[in-house]
Amino acid sequence: MKEKGLLIVLSGPSGVGKGTVRKAIFSQENTKFEYSISMTTRLPREGEVDGVDYFFKSREEFESLIEQGKLLEYAEYVGNYYGTPVDYVRETMDDGNDVFLEIEVQGAKQVRDKFPDGLFIFLAPPSLSELQNRIVTRGTESEELIRNRMDTARSEIEMMNLYDYVVENNEVATAVEKINSIVQAEHCRRERV
Ligand code: 5GP
Repeated sequence: MKEKGLLIVLSGPSGVGKGTVRKAIFSQENTKFEYSISMTTRLPREGEVDGVDYFFKSREEFESLIEQGKLLEYAEYVGNYYGTPVDYVRETMDDGNDVFLEIEVQGAKQVRDKFPDGLFIFLAPPSLSELQNRIVTRGTESEELIRNRMDTARSEIEMMNLYDYVVENNEVATAVEKINSIVQAEHCRRERV
């Protein structure tokens, strides 16, 4: 029987560079992953192509997809819907190919619930571990700014615990290398008779 493909989820806090890393992964000649093109209600940016960057949908169309159960996950982000088409993901995995999702953290959480066997990679900003140390050592500081940063960091760190791997995005090429290695290792780990 053909082995099922892996579901690879790359996520992480807003602004960490997920899109840049994803594009770098898919610009490699030998990439073996299939990219799941998301649906969105946001308008195309200059140069973006329907069916390549996203499937651009109206709000009505998107809400109808939700009702029909056509989305593996979806989230509202800065006033627009984003979601992953479930049929594409299932079919690609059933064909034995790895599917790669690049999604924000709320969506990744939903995927974790439905596909606990997925491979979840958290892309972290380089300063997160430093920030984490600061929260621990300077827990008594009370200025609003620090509190806000701690709140944000804390929710990001909590999210991090849902993931199998954390990759710091210091340099795009290094992050890509690490992600390739993680996927390779994961295949080896799962190859048991
Ligand atoms: P952008 O509008 O910059 O292309 O994307 C905004 C955010 O939406 C990014 O964090 C991106 O990772 C996330 N995103 C893209 N597609 C999906 C999706 O299908 N589901 C979810 N939950 N987030 C997505």
